[in-house]
Order: sequence, then structure tokens, then C-alpha cells
Amino acid sequence: MMMQAAILEALDSLVVQEVPLPQMDDDSALLRVEAVCICGSDIRILHHGNPRVVPPAIIGHETAGVVVQAGKNVRRVKEGDRVAVGADVPCGQCHWCRNGLGNNCAINYAVGYQIPGSFAQYMKLTRLLLEEGPVTKFSSTLSFEEAALAEPLACAINGLELAHLSLGKSVAIIGLGPIGCMMIDLARRMGATMVIGIQRSRLRLDIAREYQADAYIASEEQDVIARCRELTAGEGPDVVITAAGSVETHRQAIEMVAHRGYVNLFGGLPKNAPPLNILSNMIHYKECFVTGSHGCVPRHHEMAVRLLEQGLVRVKPLITHHFPLNKIHEAFATAEGRTGMKVVLHPQA
Ligand SMILES: [Zn+2]
Ligand SMILES: [Zn+2]
Repeated sequence: MMMQAAILEALDSLVVQEVPLPQMDDDSALLRVEAVCICGSDIRILHHGNPRVVPPAIIGHETAGVVVQAGKNVRRVKEGDRVAVGADVPCGQCHWCRNGLGNNCAINYAVGYQIPGSFAQYMKLTRLLLEEGPVTKFSSTLSFEEAALAEPLACAINGLELAHLSLGKSVAIIGLGPIGCMMIDLARRMGATMVIGIQRSRLRLDIAREYQADAYIASEEQDVIARCRELTAGEGPDVVITAAGSVETHRQAIEMVAHRGYVNLFGGLPKNAPPLNILSNMIHYKECFVTGSHGCVPRHHEMAVRLLEQGLVRVKPLITHHFPLNKIHEAFATAEGRTGMKVVLHPQA
């Protein structure tokens, strides 16, 4: 049997073609992909490559679908299950993976990287993915496109956990793309009593207003640090998250965070980004904590699906564009043009 898939043949070359269905065995299952969202990292892989992606490859990792076949040794899923699939897959063997920190694994297996991804009509849930990875069932109350966004939401949860967000704290989120918006809802659920959203582009700021943060700052028009201090009785936010890819936001975050506060550098930077230039005495005297986060582990993915099912984090306002798989080039152009938020591909359409 054949399926339609977008094959990454080389840099900047994504070709939709008919390919054989993945080869199945007793330890794996076959997923019919119903929705897959385009992530910023897919765009980077397409244009700049990644050492963990060797063409020809199928990328795509924000996935939801239905299990249509399960090998006889598979216990985790069964035919007919609606499942969301995340990206990072712990190897299960190394120091980090055995300690529940699989996103720090040296091999760093991921769907859409070493493991063929979901810009295709079908995707193989391999034995490793089923045994160690982020594969979470969800109920029919949740749509496939929302469930697919459990992957980025899981990463957002990891970021806020590492920033020690808790009851009564104030938080500033720099960058209100899809991740930043999800973080507004998450921050509330984690007990924040003051949530400040900061965004440069007007378009995204307008979409982000639906999330009803306590205050929004248009960073092009206002002094971000001064305004954040004003909103927090002069002290600065207890937690500052950077969900924008610029070193300038890293500097701002460390400068504005309160004494004993936490900064989480969530958004990675392009390879050619300049080094961070700050007076480290600022960290010294404030006794603040500068943390980082990247990806997530399977328990975050499970939590993300539960939060979405219960409507505790909303992602519907973020889903702005839909395309069939054979329009993947338009879909990428839309995602890169940043005229919306999340672009979803529907491989069965
Ligand atoms: Zn992603
Ligand atoms: Zn490992």
C-alpha cells in the first residue's frame, strides 16, 4: 500500500510524493495522521538542516491521529485509539533518561528527526516510541488539531516548572507567539496573580489579547522594563520567561526580574546570535536564578493532553490556518510569513 508523504530531499526541498507505507512489525503500531502542526523548528530544519535529520527524511512532530494497526506485542495503544504524539523520545538507557530527564539525553531521539515524522498520511509508532516516548490517548471531546498542540504545550509546561512558578507570583512573558499565549493560561493555572504579556508585532498582540493577561506591553512602543516594574510595585516580576528568539530579550529578562526571582530562557537563539552582554553582578546582588529549558519529557506531554481535554489551557484561538498535505509549501510560507499563529496540515484531506 502507498501513502502520500512530504519528503525532505535536501535543504529547501520538500517534495510531496507517493511512498510505501512504513514496514510494520509485532512491536510497533501504525498511526493515521489526522492533524500535524508546523513548528518553528520544522522551518529551521527545512532551510538550515539539523545534524539529527538525514535526508531523505519525513519531518513534522506536533501530531495527532488514530491508531489503525497494532502489532501483537504492543500494549500501550490499540486499534481505534485517538493519540497525540510528542517529539522528544528518551533512549531509556542513559543516566539522564533513567532519571526522568530524557530531553537532556545525549542521543536526543525525536520524532521528525531520527524517527520519521508526521508530514505524511501514516506514521509508524516504533517500539522505542511506544515504550519510552510521548504517546498519549485523548478523548473524542478534543479535536485532533488541538491534541497535536499538546507537544508545544508540554514544552511550555517544562519551562514554567523550571521557573518555579507558584501561587501568588507575578510573571512576565516576552514573546506572545503560540507558546507565549499558552503560557498565559498555564501561568494562571499554576497560581500566578499577575500575568504580563509582552510582544513586538501588533498582529500577534491582538490575537494574544484573547488570553486576557492582566497587562499587555507593545515592546516597540513602550519601555518594557519600566512598565514591568510599574506593574509589580517597583520590584519587577517574580518570573520572567523569554519566548522570543533574541538575545536582547534575555538581557531584558535578567534586568527586570525581581530579587530571588527566576528567569527562564525558553526560546532558543539563531546560531549567529551575539553573546549575552550583562553585568553579572546584577545576578549576584539580586540572588536571582537564570534557568533554561528545551523540549520536554513524556510526563509533560501527558499533562498537556489532560489540560487541553479539560479546557484549562486554550489553543483554539491559536489555530489560524489549515492546509491539506499537498499544499505543504503554501503552509510553510504562511507559517514563515507570521501572518497568523499555528498552521495545521490535514494529511487525510
Ligand atoms: Zn514543536
Ligand atoms: Zn538517554
